[in-house]
Amino acid sequence: MRREGILIVVSGFSGTGKGTLMKRLVKTYDSYALSVSMTTRKARPGERDGREYFFVSHEEFEKELARGGLIEYARYCDHYYGTPRDYVERQLACGKDIILEIEIQGALKIKEQYPTALLLFVMPPDIKELRRRLSGRGTETEEVIKARLSRAKEEAEGIENYDYLVINDDLDLCVEQMHMLIRGAHCAPKRNQNFIQNIRAQLDALAKGED
Ligand code: ADP
Ligand code: 5GP
Repeated sequence: MRREGILIVVSGFSGTGKGTLMKRLVKTYDSYALSVSMTTRKARPGERDGREYFFVSHEEFEKELARGGLIEYARYCDHYYGTPRDYVERQLACGKDIILEIEIQGALKIKEQYPTALLLFVMPPDIKELRRRLSGRGTETEEVIKARLSRAKEEAEGIENYDYLVINDDLDLCVEQMHMLIRGAHCAPKRNQNFIQNIRAQLDALAKGED
């Protein structure tokens, strides 16, 4: 029986290393598909349209939203971000684990719509290191870094909504830990309903003397 794909939501404060972790996870294991979000923010140097994000104008974003093309969306530090519906639904239908790297408001909307989604929150080892990573990335002004750290304080209030915490200290260890947690999550009864129903049907057939 084909295994059911899981929707995996990964959140964490800006600069924790989510993007770096996701790239490594997808490169190491071919069972994962990474959803590419749509955003109104500008591309950072090195980011490519259609790879890190679909970079769109405000009007294009609103058009997509009105068409029902986004599963969820949120405003984050003056920009809109949203998850395109088509790709996610196609990947789930073919049994892939699909990863959404999104902030907390979006994560909660996904949890409502997909109760079997697995929610992971990535933490830095400490806030000094978070600050170092955010500045070290060199892609945001000091003002934007401040806004993102202030947003982190709000996000920290919602961490208990997640299933697991992972600490991104050593990158490789963190990737391994995420992979193990996802493997474990696959064993939960709520994520194996087709298999369970199938076994029950076989038991029924046996009880009726059918073979
Ligand atoms: P996020 O997607 O969470 O905003 P990034 O993936 O862009 O974060 O990472 C922020 C910065 O931290 C990058 O410069 C990245 O190279 C660095 N980084 C990520 N993970 C680690 C780690 N485990 N140790 C040290 N630096 C890291
Ligand atoms: P960044 O600008 O650093 O790439 O992303 C800013 C924040 O937006 C991060 O917390 C990231 O996880 C989140 N984000 C990225 N895509 C989406 C999305 O499609 N939906 C939501 N709700 N958040 C997103």
